[in-house]
Amino acid sequence: MKNIEKLGNFTVHDAPKYEDILQCMRCGFCLPTCPTFSLTGRERSSPRGRVALARAVSEGKLEFNQAMKEEAFFCLDCRACTTACPSGVQAGSLMEICRAQADQQQPLPKWQAGFRDFILKKMLPNPDLLETSMLPARLYQKLGIQWLVRHSKLLKLGPKWIDKAEGMMPELHQPLRQNLPHLSSATSEKRGTVAFFLGCVMTLMYAEVSRQTVRVLNHQGFDVITPKAQKCCGAPHMTEGDRETTRQLAQHNLDLFLGLDVDAIVTDCAGCGAALKEYEELLEEQEDHQRLKKFHSKIKDISEFLIEVGIHTEGLKPVNKFVTYHEPCHLCHAQGISKQPRDLIKSIPGVEFREMKEANWCCGSAATFSLKFTEASQKILDRKLDNVKNTEAEVLVTSNPGCHLQLDWGLREAEMAQPVLHLSELLGEATPD
Ligand code: SF4
Ligand code: SF4
Repeated sequence: MKNIEKLGNFTVHDAPKYEDILQCMRCGFCLPTCPTFSLTGRERSSPRGRVALARAVSEGKLEFNQAMKEEAFFCLDCRACTTACPSGVQAGSLMEICRAQADQQQPLPKWQAGFRDFILKKMLPNPDLLETSMLPARLYQKLGIQWLVRHSKLLKLGPKWIDKAEGMMPELHQPLRQNLPHLSSATSEKRGTVAFFLGCVMTLMYAEVSRQTVRVLNHQGFDVITPKAQKCCGAPHMTEGDRETTRQLAQHNLDLFLGLDVDAIVTDCAGCGAALKEYEELLEEQEDHQRLKKFHSKIKDISEFLIEVGIHTEGLKPVNKFVTYHEPCHLCHAQGISKQPRDLIKSIPGVEFREMKEANWCCGSAATFSLKFTEASQKILDRKLDNVKNTEAEVLVTSNPGCHLQLDWGLREAEMAQPVLHLSELLGEATPD
């Protein structure tokens, strides 16, 4: 480590940009929007406090110590502070970079690092291996072992995160990637061709969502190309501070999708969409800027895409339900997409939309946050569930697999009756065969 040049006490490799840190003018507008500040009341767990910590490390006034590492990982990366910040400070992204620093300066014990690297560097970049790894989980459900485990309450005796991880597991189906045709043709008058970015968590946990996305796009007049060679978007790697593997995955996906002659690259996963849109910045030192711009301009969330091209509502079946909507942070704060999903929900005949209070407040999922900080995550989730309850809606719609898992689990634990649906599933319900 001693030979590495430092920016203050950051190592040069993947260090935050000092000019970004300096943008914070300490106004505090971000404070009421930050879930971890709201929970703890601690300045260091606020966006302003986190930026101040990074600044102190940058200026050599603070070692990159355990407290800095803790705050980097305790940040939900929900980006609510960025939406609120008049200076455009990106405290969440800054904390992502600090996680990469933690990897260099405060590394995990060897066995933990080995396990993490196996998941990040071997499993996630290899879709075939990832899909095969789900087989034991599917057998666990199919053979009734899950039923026994849940009814015995055995897992309540162990660490909370194991009980929660098991409880969050939805009913698993055959992986969809290999079964989707390369080309799914439009089923109404053709309006264009799109590529579909599946997203590993979405398609492994919620294969039906991916299926409905293709069906809805086909019904709306779009040919859908699903390239089998696509890989993880890199969001989990970014979250864990492994920026090198993120870059490799980004380069692979960029080359693959830019090789297709399509009008747009559509995803139904808010987290993937945000990560794909951030390739422009991630690869700025190794890729041609025109190619990065072109790729960025083609990435569309399903809601963004359908509103841009204009959804055809004639012929849609009525869905006579009261519906509310939870905004995934990586859709509303990271991509600025807030109105489009609501407009789509309201466009479905029969739907009565019920706005919930604090719809854009995080649900407490935030990748592995919900398992690493189970108590904090539960408190954030409870606030969300109260807001859902107050709408008296029959259906809760969202559009990110992490939120979907967390909300589904939370509603079941709270014995609330609302099903959680992805926006594509709701649109799919209205789409005739
Ligand atoms: S991060 Fe932005 S909103 Fe928060 S204190 Fe700094 S300048 Fe103000
Ligand atoms: S990204 Fe979210 S949790 Fe992190 S500092 Fe900003 S508001 Fe707080």
